Amino acid sequence: MTTPTPSQSARSVLVTGGNRGIGRAIAEAFLAQGDLVAVTTRSGGAPEGALDLRCDVTDAAAVDAAFAEAEAAHGPVEVLVANAGITADTLLLRMSEDDWSSVIDTNLTGTFHLAKRAAKGMLRLRRGRIILISSVVGLLGSAGQVNYAASKAGLVGIARSLARELGSRSITTNVVAPGFIDTDMTAVLSDEQKAAIKTQVPLGRYGDVAEVANAVTWLASPGAAYVTGAVVPVDGGLGMGH
Ligand code: NDP
Repeated sequence: MTTPTPSQSARSVLVTGGNRGIGRAIAEAFLAQGDLVAVTTRSGGAPEGALDLRCDVTDAAAVDAAFAEAEAAHGPVEVLVANAGITADTLLLRMSEDDWSSVIDTNLTGTFHLAKRAAKGMLRLRRGRIILISSVVGLLGSAGQVNYAASKAGLVGIARSLARELGSRSITTNVVAPGFIDTDMTAVLSDEQKAAIKTQVPLGRYGDVAEVANAVTWLASPGAAYVTGAVVPVDGGLGMGH
């Protein structure tokens, strides 16, 4: 019996929001398998071994410049992980225009900028992997997160459209939908909220950032070459059936 080929030669990988939380774990996982990793954030602090680039994903020109730097250092970007994201939670009637637009601009429009810039190079290469970090909330909905849920559901629409647009060039586009993962983003929840969430999760615990990174590196691996337009949950069973 043959085993699947593990890693191919080092690839140029770009991870947004890779200075902490889920994005950092993803960047570290690619670094550990020998890939060339560029990390983009607004505040810096990429893991050791990664190219540390400043880029606000809401700014298309900044995204273009970050890709140009990553390409100059590592060659054409073959794997994009669009992970940068924010929340601005509040109930609908209290949600300001800014609460709405800041989340949509970062999570959804930012991903549009990234995917558009990445696709340019990938179409030339005739291969590529685009992985978008959504959320279980995009599929289930969540009281107090109309903006965030809309942005994360929108990523599924982007991914499935790109899967159709780019598939003929061997470019796959997939979504990873984490459940509740221990990071700065969820640290703001109260103990009662955390306990209530755990009762809804069949596995009865929060996820670890490395568990999300595992799904991402798999989607970028040769073993996932025939997977596109998929939404891969990493949520302890929270979103089952969605
Ligand atoms: P964190 O809050 O820990 O990190 C968010 C990252 O995004 C930071 O690196 C931040 O860097 C970056 N970022 C935010 N805004 C921008 C911007 N405008 N331009 C560039 N970078 C930006 O979040 P998590 O690690 O928890 O989440 C990562 C992703 O996973 C997000 O998309 C989130 O929605 C998603 N997710 C998280 C879950 C969880 O339970 N934690 C569950 C489901 C999904 P900087 O501030 O330096 O720019």
